[in-house]
Amino acid sequence: MARGSTDKSWGMSDSDPADFCYICRKGHFVRHDREVAFHQSTDKGYVFCRVVVPIGICNQCGSQNWDEAAEAIIEAAVRDEYDKLPD
Ligand SMILES: [Zn+2]
Repeated sequence: MARGSTDKSWGMSDSDPADFCYICRKGHFVRHDREVAFHQSTDKGYVFCRVVVPIGICNQCGSQNWDEAAEAIIEAAVRDEYDKLPD
């Protein structure tokens, strides 16, 4: 492996490394807004959440890529529902 200058590979090219599928290494993640409904266990009991989160889905293998933004939306939704529960 040659250790040359690598800064060019991180520029704005037609294949953004952030969207490149690391699972099949062929496709790339396409963003979809997905409605997700789930139960979460808390110390006040279960909360039920329904949120729309942006998920990257690979156009080749169909793998899902949940990024930090999606996780933050889910955490915020759980906290909201948790606050609504009676003590
Ligand atoms: Zn893939």
